[in-house]
Amino acid sequence: MRNTDLTWIAGPCSAESPEQLRSIAKSLSKAELYAFRAGIWKPRTRPGAFEGAGDEGLKWLKDIRDEFGVEVITEVANPQHVQKILDVGFKKCWVGARTTSNPFSVQELAESLAGTPLTVLVKNPTNPDVKLWIGGIERMQKAGVSEVIAVHRGFSTYEKKKYRNIPNWQLPLDLKKEFPSIPLLCDPSHISGIAANVPMVAQMAVDLKFDGLMVEVHHSPTEAWTDAKQQLSCDAFLYMVDSLAIRNREAIDQEEIRELRADLSVIDEQLIRLLVQRMELSERIGAYKKRNHLVIFQTEQWKESLDKFIKLAEELDLSAEFATELFKQIHQESIAIQSKVFET
Ligand code: PEP
Ligand code: MN
Repeated sequence: MRNTDLTWIAGPCSAESPEQLRSIAKSLSKAELYAFRAGIWKPRTRPGAFEGAGDEGLKWLKDIRDEFGVEVITEVANPQHVQKILDVGFKKCWVGARTTSNPFSVQELAESLAGTPLTVLVKNPTNPDVKLWIGGIERMQKAGVSEVIAVHRGFSTYEKKKYRNIPNWQLPLDLKKEFPSIPLLCDPSHISGIAANVPMVAQMAVDLKFDGLMVEVHHSPTEAWTDAKQQLSCDAFLYMVDSLAIRNREAIDQEEIRELRADLSVIDEQLIRLLVQRMELSERIGAYKKRNHLVIFQTEQWKESLDKFIKLAEELDLSAEFATELFKQIHQESIAIQSKVFET
């Protein structure tokens, strides 16, 4: 297999049966995995769904480790889980996005992990709060967890469009600056939400110098009990491992990229100048509204401008999500400028 300089974690979303785990582990034995993953205690958004095989699944995973000689990893959400995986001699675990969102839970977990030989993977919280993610990592380090790894799995949004959990590629890179020695993995499965997009997101992560990938893989994805849409088949996973391009990381210094960067900075300058012009217009509109006793924010007007902006963006092949976020930011600043006019 190629691409072995990346850290690979793969396996099903949930452990469903010993046969299911064995079938997947057998197919994946061609890959050099850092760990075989499977959730046994599943945090579900709503009660009543399959909540994992629990303690029984722990035994199945242990058997996979012994039969295939591969490290196994599962999610822990409380000190009881930690104790149970220590009892069976696991060496790694991950903290899920819902748990990272709650500092009480993270602290409790960190204390139970302290002094153990466990490597702990900390997923980003469900909400896009890099400080909460940093806080989770710091709690692990302060408690004395010897090895911590960060995992970007995207952020939850109300509207699900292109991504199930939207990635923010800047945040993990900021995290890397704060903790240069902490490896950074990407979970393209929970970001994508659909299997077809997983390789594209994985390639993006590799291009951004992530250290590895954690991928959901199932022997029969359509029959999976959880996250059926996003799991790759074993063959699709092996193909992805082989075909991801590790681009020449030295390319950054090459002539062509320098020229492209120079072009980008010209466009950035134009963007700033246009935004300044736009804000000057907003200020004049603010003055008009004040003179004529009109309110600053007019919902109908805002909706109409937003729709027009998105429509044009889509026609020109920019994503509606990006256009919406951009317009909201610009509009927010414009309202702030008009408010200042009203105060004077
Ligand atoms: C998982 O990896 O199965 C999982 C539940 O992930 P997350 O915590 O990122 O939602
Ligand atoms: Mn999952």
